[in-house]
Amino acid sequence: MHDGLALDNGQHILIGAYTSSLALLKTLGVNTEEVLHRQPLDLRFIDGSGLQLNNWPAPLNVLMGVVTAKGWSWRDRWAFLRRAQAWQNAGFECNATTTVGQLCQGLPVSVMQQLIEPLCVSALNLSSAQASGQVFLRVLQDALLSGTGSSDTLIPRTDLSQLLPDAALAWLQTHGADVVLGQRVSELPEGPVLLACPAWQAAALTQDLAPAWSAQALGLQHTAIATVYARSATPLNWPSPMLALHHDQEAPAQFAFDKGRLSGTPDMQGMVALVVSDCTLERDAVTAAVLQQAQQQLGLNLEWLTTVLEKRATFACTPGLQRPPMQVAKGVWACGDHVAGPYPATLEGAVRSGYAAAQALMS
Ligand SMILES: Cc1cc2nc3c(=O)[nH]c(=O)nc-3n(C[C@H](O)[C@H](O)[C@H](O)COP(=O)(O)OP(=O)(O)OC[C@H]3O[C@@H](n4cnc5c(N)ncnc54)[C@H](O)[C@@H]3O)c2cc1C
Repeated sequence: MHDGLALDNGQHILIGAYTSSLALLKTLGVNTEEVLHRQPLDLRFIDGSGLQLNNWPAPLNVLMGVVTAKGWSWRDRWAFLRRAQAWQNAGFECNATTTVGQLCQGLPVSVMQQLIEPLCVSALNLSSAQASGQVFLRVLQDALLSGTGSSDTLIPRTDLSQLLPDAALAWLQTHGADVVLGQRVSELPEGPVLLACPAWQAAALTQDLAPAWSAQALGLQHTAIATVYARSATPLNWPSPMLALHHDQEAPAQFAFDKGRLSGTPDMQGMVALVVSDCTLERDAVTAAVLQQAQQQLGLNLEWLTTVLEKRATFACTPGLQRPPMQVAKGVWACGDHVAGPYPATLEGAVRSGYAAAQALMS
């Protein structure tokens, strides 16, 4: 909370291909049409340049988006389409040690800057030079080729607690579960156990029982995400509630969100969330740089509200990374976004991991 406003630890987005997360929300009775703003993938900048898909069936939407992308030459379009075809022909597989940068070697600068980099850093929270090519291809495959709407962006209109945990809590209580909140587990209890906490916590809890598993979980590196919340006194009038930003060391935010338009509530009007994935700056430095970036690129003189810097936002999804498996020891399982799986650290990765571990526990 900030001055009575419910602000998340970071702006979250889902995509249409997050089928398990969307199914979970449905099971919990959440009206996803109401609480999620859904739009075709839109990576445009304030001047309208960049890629925007329409709601045609895949892959026609991608083809049309590439053909009509503003600021792309015909050479750029052709280069991307040929490369995408090559990835598809290879079954969206590549060498485990390949980075996204290597995978995309030879693609024109505008394709890298306007499509690959924004997708990579928002999905894997790492730059293309460091991120895993294999995981990136999996995200691309799911987003672009798993049916109509799979590449759609779904942005919560409410805060995250309202979106999922509150609904989950209510569901559990009506289904007779004994829920204990606000209690830190400091040692493993007896009996079958499912650990659903971050990697470093799971590592501490399993140190004696499963030292090798614990060491692997503890060995995961993490990357940060900063979210700068600020308010504009003037109306935003953006073409979309989510805008791509030109980013580099001096201008570190990749995306801006119009929280007022998303929520529709009076207290959020003018509220902007500016997101810096793969953040390497400290809180004050990132705040100053982002406010200046908003001024230069969006023409906004923002009133700063707060900056949330999550230093261990996601595990670093580097090539060939070995993540700890679901089974910790006999009768002990782990779930969460960090557990071995095909996804980067995302809500969908965590939900899929949770379902798989719950099934293992029950059987
Ligand atoms: C700033 C930010 C932005 C993000 N943006 C996106 C996005 O746009 N899209 C997306 O898909 N993903 C995004 N993510 C990633 C996403 O939030 C995570 O992948 C997901 O929340 C992981 O879920 P989890 O259940 O594995 O872990 P968590 O959500 O971290 O849940 C672990 C729980 O364990 C509890 N816990 C910890 N230790 C103990 C203990 N000792 N005893 C009891 N409980 C304990 C914690 O309180 C917490 O509730 C973002 C993450 C951050 C930080």
